[in-house]
Amino acid sequence: MSDPTRPKGPKIIAVANQKGGVGKTTTAINVAAALVEEGKAVLIVDIDPQGNASTGLGVEAEQRTKTTYDLLLDEAPLDEIIRRTDIDGLMIAPGTTDLSSADIEMVSNEKRSFLLHDALRQPAIDAYGFDFVLIDCPPSLNLLTVNAMVAAHSVLVPLQSEFFALEGLSQLMLTIRELRQTANPELRIEGVVLTMTDRRNNLSQQVENDARAHLGDLVFKTVIPRNVRVSEAPSYAMPVLDYDPLSKGAQAYRALAREMLGSTVQVTA
Ligand code: ADP
Ligand code: MG
Repeated sequence: MSDPTRPKGPKIIAVANQKGGVGKTTTAINVAAALVEEGKAVLIVDIDPQGNASTGLGVEAEQRTKTTYDLLLDEAPLDEIIRRTDIDGLMIAPGTTDLSSADIEMVSNEKRSFLLHDALRQPAIDAYGFDFVLIDCPPSLNLLTVNAMVAAHSVLVPLQSEFFALEGLSQLMLTIRELRQTANPELRIEGVVLTMTDRRNNLSQQVENDARAHLGDLVFKTVIPRNVRVSEAPSYAMPVLDYDPLSKGAQAYRALAREMLGSTVQVTA
């Protein structure tokens, strides 16, 4: 159902952090699943050559005939790429290993930073009635991630609760600031979400305290605890919300989605 108060077209959110293994893909999949539980229609756009979001939602590599690689290189329109998942209301534009060369192939295009922006604004997207598009970015600040942040209304930043977590963040914030001055003046920061937290662990708590001290309200109240069910879910090709709906991980992602939708629900883990 489309919401008459929302501006036309979906809200596009890039899930980005140039560090690998911080929870980008996990966050993209599970925030998407939680938004679907809230009645929203969601598209995940996988632009990571590793294609983990695609695998994690049951789209195996051999089934990925048309992917975001074709979309970026203008070799196939959006509606040929988008596919259903097992979850009603959740669709995916799968990624592929070919994306690792897309960077180089895109460089010569004078619109190179706007390829995803333009692709996601193809009129065909209106027919799906998406409320949200979540772009799962590669672990790099390369041209793919720049495309995501130029296409997006906001950036959602997962921050793993470990030593040096904040170091890489300044580079990401700098890139966002640069894009705001150039290609995407409206780009906002959706928020920073602490992932894999363990409040019994002093270091994890210290990272959270530092993040809140430095970034203030940019940090979501909800934190995502380290939870083994979260890491098991992708091998069953399911979001943790479906794999183990009552797990701490599932509950935290539901709380995060609600916080994003504006109703603040705090989860203490
Ligand atoms: P990225 O996309 O940033 O590289 P992933 O989302 O793939 O990171 O997460 C990296 C690894 O950590 C994966 O194996 C994932 O299953 C695991 N993981 C992510 N979040 C959690 C969590 N809250 N609890 C336990 N394991 C997690
Ligand atoms: Mg990933």
